[in-house]
Amino acid sequence: MEKETKNQEQEFSKHEKDWKDPFKKKVEQKPGVHLGDKDSKNPKKFTFSFWYFFIILIAFILMNTFMASRQTNEQAIDYNQFKTLVERGSIRRVAIEEDKYIGYNFTREQVLANSSGSTDFMQSFSTYKVDDPTFIPLLDTHGVEYYALAPVKPGLLSTLLGYLLPLALVLVFWRFLFSKMGGGKGGQGVLSFTQNKAQVVAEGDTGVRFADVAGADESKYELEEVVDFLQNPDKYTEIGGKIPKGVLLVGPPGTGKTLLARAVAGEAGTPFYRMSGADFVEMFVGVGAARVRDLFKQARENSPCIIFIDEIDAIGRQRSAAGIGGNDEREQTLNQLLVEMDGFDSRTGVIILAATNRPEILDPALLRPGRFDRQVLIDKPDLEGRFEILKIHTKNIKMAKDVDLRKIAQASAGLAGADLANIANEAALLAVRQKRKTVSQAEFEEAIEKSVAGLERKSRVLNEKERERVAYHESGHALTAYLTEGAEAVNKISIIPRGLSALGYTLQYPTEDRFLLSETELLGNIDTLMGGRAAEEVIFNEISTGAGNDISRASDLVRRMIQEFGMSQKYRNITLPTVNSGIAGVGGSRAFSEKAQEYIDSETARIVNERYDIVLNNLKKNKKALESITKRLLENEVIGGTEFEALAKSEVIV
Ligand code: ADP
Ligand code: ZN
Repeated sequence: MEKETKNQEQEFSKHEKDWKDPFKKKVEQKPGVHLGDKDSKNPKKFTFSFWYFFIILIAFILMNTFMASRQTNEQAIDYNQFKTLVERGSIRRVAIEEDKYIGYNFTREQVLANSSGSTDFMQSFSTYKVDDPTFIPLLDTHGVEYYALAPVKPGLLSTLLGYLLPLALVLVFWRFLFSKMGGGKGGQGVLSFTQNKAQVVAEGDTGVRFADVAGADESKYELEEVVDFLQNPDKYTEIGGKIPKGVLLVGPPGTGKTLLARAVAGEAGTPFYRMSGADFVEMFVGVGAARVRDLFKQARENSPCIIFIDEIDAIGRQRSAAGIGGNDEREQTLNQLLVEMDGFDSRTGVIILAATNRPEILDPALLRPGRFDRQVLIDKPDLEGRFEILKIHTKNIKMAKDVDLRKIAQASAGLAGADLANIANEAALLAVRQKRKTVSQAEFEEAIEKSVAGLERKSRVLNEKERERVAYHESGHALTAYLTEGAEAVNKISIIPRGLSALGYTLQYPTEDRFLLSETELLGNIDTLMGGRAAEEVIFNEISTGAGNDISRASDLVRRMIQEFGMSQKYRNITLPTVNSGIAGVGGSRAFSEKAQEYIDSETARIVNERYDIVLNNLKKNKKALESITKRLLENEVIGGTEFEALAKSEVIV
């Protein structure tokens, strides 16, 4: 019996609560139901996307409005009406809440006895609490049941949401904003800016060896020394020699710079830290610098090791002299890199390799002794190199008997190692698509066509005629350099296209910065620049756009000779400076007269034409030499310094 009453009591309170306060249930349920809903509609992994939070925000706002305008079934009445109802006996039971009274027209017993479950007869009234000491005595005299109710507290969940949600929203919005600003870095948003990304990419053993890098023999040879430094540092330090700290790998994309760097680490058996220059550049000033610091700290702790900074131009670009338009963050990062490089002793066994395809835009400070004072050129592969690369990348491919890798190498002039690796893979895929068991020459040819067509847009693949013109042009530069006093010796001539602008190039010693050039040397440089166009004129009787860059560099040099170096006849030993206003040279004003300007213009033209005529005559005289050098260049795509010297010597008439 007792037991039953208890049950009934529980039943009652449950019932009453449900009936009286339908909202309370909803508060606790709503978020849960909502989340569940969302999940079932969206089986994808729970992601903290911006939209997710946006939806919750809306739900939250709705919920709050609902809470505020909470609907009750109580009839709101005035306090004195309430009292009257009590006096009349219409109110039998009063719940005293925090700020109001709720009166019911039934007693607790009536509810318990109400087996039908009907609530029709039930009425309730509410009124605001008035500080009236006669109220309780009034209830007592009329035999009204009364009890106090604890204030309705919002559930724990909604309290938490109330505090945390706005906070979370602010964070998410912040993160979202910066991930947009930072070029869509996705997961690595603002919240992770103190993390060191280098840690993520540290490789214990790269598993790459020099044997995996085909061609590029010269570069490998230079880097073998680095491996030796890492393995036997004592050998060098005992003699008092200095181990290089930084080596700059220079070359177009896809030529295997990263591969070589990993091979160095692999051969030396050291950890490999790889970071891209772009990883350092962040929204916040100081973050990049902190990353550099972290990276070097880690590297020192794990020495000997290799740090590889890909695309160093992203941070290593020349610092601007002007305050306006500068990039503080990038400059700070660069400064930190310089400081770190200066700060450590090369005997610690940390060697920094960096890659770029635009060494000319790097800040000269990076290339000074003790920093990246070694440069290794990694060019697009020549015929032999392409053949070797193809061999490596077809090692695991089942090939038909008709495949001739040499032919493929011939057909793929101008392609880099990465393109060739791609071709091998593409050919295999084509074979699979045609349900073959082996890859035949036809598939390779198709793959090359695809790749070359892509490249024609990306950079250039020359037709026969253009190739010949480029060969004469480059030979013209080289031969002029050979013929001109004061010009630098030729290191290498190549007609392997190099990226977008250069169709071919002639490389001269010395490659490092010259701090002092004599007038003769300057003129020698100008002549060499003219040599390309002059050779075209000698052979084709017609000039082309291919020399555009040469011409502007030559006229620039002449202008500087007159304005900066005081090497003109009229203004000998006088500078005619153009004063920069500071913003990227726009609106620069000159600190000399209109007449001086006229002189500069006419004198520039005179000198350039004079030099061009000299060069043209020299090349006309040595047309035979020009032709045989060009022939060799067309055959081989590249001529090294010594071979060129020998060729020129045997043919040139002085
Ligand atoms: P880079 O860093 O110069 O842009 P990568 O080192 O990333 O070029 O080269 C991309 C891929 O191309 C390499 O992983 C490799 O498969 C292939 N590759 C490039 N050059 C060579 C090479 N000389 N020998 C073998 N594979 C090469
Ligand atoms: Zn040129």
